[in-house]
Amino acid sequence: MTLIIDCHGHYTTAPPAHNDWREAQKAAFEAGRATPAYPTISDDEIRASLEQNQLRLLHERGADMTIFSPRASAMAPHIGDERVARKWARANNDLIKRCADLYPERFVPVCMLPQSPDADMQGSIAELDRCVGMGFVGCNLNPDPGGGYFKHPPLTDRFWYPFYEKMVELDVPAMIHVSGSCNPGLHATGGYYIAADTIAFMQLIQGDLFRDFPSLRLIIPHGGGAVPYHWGRYRGLADMLKQPDLAGHVMNNVFFDTCVYHQPGINLLADVIDNKNILFGSEMVGAVRGIDPTTGHYFDDTKRYIDALDISEDERHAIFEGNTRRVFPRLDQQLKERGL
Ligand SMILES: [Zn+2]
Repeated sequence: MTLIIDCHGHYTTAPPAHNDWREAQKAAFEAGRATPAYPTISDDEIRASLEQNQLRLLHERGADMTIFSPRASAMAPHIGDERVARKWARANNDLIKRCADLYPERFVPVCMLPQSPDADMQGSIAELDRCVGMGFVGCNLNPDPGGGYFKHPPLTDRFWYPFYEKMVELDVPAMIHVSGSCNPGLHATGGYYIAADTIAFMQLIQGDLFRDFPSLRLIIPHGGGAVPYHWGRYRGLADMLKQPDLAGHVMNNVFFDTCVYHQPGINLLADVIDNKNILFGSEMVGAVRGIDPTTGHYFDDTKRYIDALDISEDERHAIFEGNTRRVFPRLDQQLKERGL
């Protein structure tokens, strides 16, 4: 038996009161007033927001569970100051925790971080610690908290090291995931996301991060951005930069999801990238919500593409379950405790 674990889902359908509070928080910050109290949201409201959306789609598409984090485009850590970012991250992560508590077999919680652009990583370390204490199994790490201007140091810089030390201590991975774009030239999910994924991978080639953190694990979403398609370019650049072969330099620590929304793209991913580095993901309900007129199926129904891959059943099992359990050992432990 194979568990179908979607490694990439967001709570894009949170109850309106949650989003209204965010607007009130922003307004209060701009006016210099105290933030209003967080609203009461009932379990029934949360259930309704999930049952018509993520739970329905999990059921219809035949997936067992999703690794679930706050809505990425709304993380927007640049809004307000660090205190605003911390409160917003906390409110979001607490809501994710409630989803996981209501449907413990369906939602596996992953947290966002309060990465206010001028702050160091101490607030994020504290929030990660708090969330893992509540049963979270990983985090989304934003490589560009300013929202589309790439002013932060590369992911290999020592700026990030205290956070990586905490990740290693807690044995949790991070998905490298930007938020909304403030740059009018960068469409969020079409331009910014894919660019940030690709940029992150190149930073990892240029640096020596995994020499310092051999057990650190990073997931680059959206199929690894442009990387698999340009694999020869990246191998060639590693060679020109006198870096080791990517297999040892990066690919013991970096994983790509399958949020690529057509069959030829998934075929290429599975052909080019060692299947031990591929995790099933769909990012639903997320970036692309429509139906592909050429197939009659949802673009983001990525399970269909994996099912259609010409690979062995062992490889398919690894993509759907085995690799994800290896990258998320705290999930593996929780599943073992449930006899799975
Ligand atoms: Zn995402």
